[in-house]
Amino acid sequence: MVTAVVGANWGDEGKGKITDMLGETSDIIVRFQGGSNAGHTIVNDYGKFALHILPSGVFYNHTTSIIGNGVALNIPDLFNEIQGIVEKGVPKPKILVSDRAQIVMPYHILFDEYEEERLAGKSFGSTKSGIAPFYSDKYAKTGIQVAELFNEEALKERLQTILVKKNVLLKNLYHKPEIELEDVWKTLREYKEMVAPYVCDVSAFLYEARKAGKNILLEGQLGSLKDPDHGIYPMVTSSSTLAGYGAIGAGIPPYEIQRIVTVVKAYSSAVGAGEFVSEIFGEEADELRRRGGDGGEYGATTGRPRRMGWFDAVASRYGCRIQGATEVALTVLDVLGYLDELPVCVGYEIDGNVTKDFPTTSMLAKAKPVYEVLPGWKEDIRGITEYDQLPENCRGYIEFIEKELGVPIKMVSNGPGRHEIIYR
Ligand code: GDP
Repeated sequence: MVTAVVGANWGDEGKGKITDMLGETSDIIVRFQGGSNAGHTIVNDYGKFALHILPSGVFYNHTTSIIGNGVALNIPDLFNEIQGIVEKGVPKPKILVSDRAQIVMPYHILFDEYEEERLAGKSFGSTKSGIAPFYSDKYAKTGIQVAELFNEEALKERLQTILVKKNVLLKNLYHKPEIELEDVWKTLREYKEMVAPYVCDVSAFLYEARKAGKNILLEGQLGSLKDPDHGIYPMVTSSSTLAGYGAIGAGIPPYEIQRIVTVVKAYSSAVGAGEFVSEIFGEEADELRRRGGDGGEYGATTGRPRRMGWFDAVASRYGCRIQGATEVALTVLDVLGYLDELPVCVGYEIDGNVTKDFPTTSMLAKAKPVYEVLPGWKEDIRGITEYDQLPENCRGYIEFIEKELGVPIKMVSNGPGRHEIIYR
């Protein structure tokens, strides 16, 4: 059985927690896209962890954690993250890295910085982890696969050709120092040492695992609205955030992904630039940001304050549809207990017409939120374990959202801890 855990919104929905929870009954957990640009925050018996590249399953003894071919692999980040968790007392995890995964090169990170600098006020708000230059190189066929580290002669030759192009840009577009082949070469040899113990033919491994009836969990990063095809292009990430891409980024047949747990956040938050129809500002936003998540809504990787907004049913329904959600996990509901009233964005007004369909980015810029206001429950719901025990207005909010989404909400998360979950 293959299950995907993916986000319906702009990311930070709390996928890490849901993956960590579902990990208890999984044998294998696979990261299939993205890099160490976003992070999952996980609270468990060992403490609080911000994972950027490792799959959330690393905290279990019984799971194998996999970096799939679709990931932007930052080798030093991987290495440091493994060491970091082991130092905190977590047993050394079983990790496999796809031999077809491509490597984030030091120059990808430089190019990311330089490009944001060049764009100045028009920048994407990149985390400067090299992700966009990495995926650009992958599809321009100038990326480097992990397996190439073990074929030095051929790699050196390719690298030479690649650096010619890079140096033209560095010199003429960015006016920065050029890169020396020897420096990059030295770094790659270090990378080879770091990654060597983990390299594996992942799709073959997963093929055997499926034949043996293992439970496989695919862990997505970010959410539907950051998908390069279906999201708010160009303010998106550079690899697909959709469950469908899980098949490609892990190397399994698409029809194997039967369960798509789509994580929906009970209010909205976003990082980086881009259209955000139900965004709120001022004191109202500050309060939600302060109370949000676990200790406030600040980026797990960058510490940046997140942009805040009310629940957006238009964006979330679209987010679920494009993921192919088979069920929803509604998260961080406990945070909303302080509100007298909860506005929910149920439509977008564009040029005087109200729509419930999520439009393309150019139309989105004109959209104004249409709100329906629901009564608050004014109660702390943490610690509640049965759905019936939730306050009536809280159940009303959940059921309203479920109706808007058109997908069953099977889990409600009412706290950051692994077991703070209500099943329906
Ligand atoms: P991810 O990238 O989707 O995994 O999301 P993040 O980890 O960036 O953000 C989720 C944040 O909310 C983390 O700090 C979690 O510990 C926290 N969180 C997850 N679920 C809940 C919940 O139900 N209630 C509260 N209060 N915090 C939660």
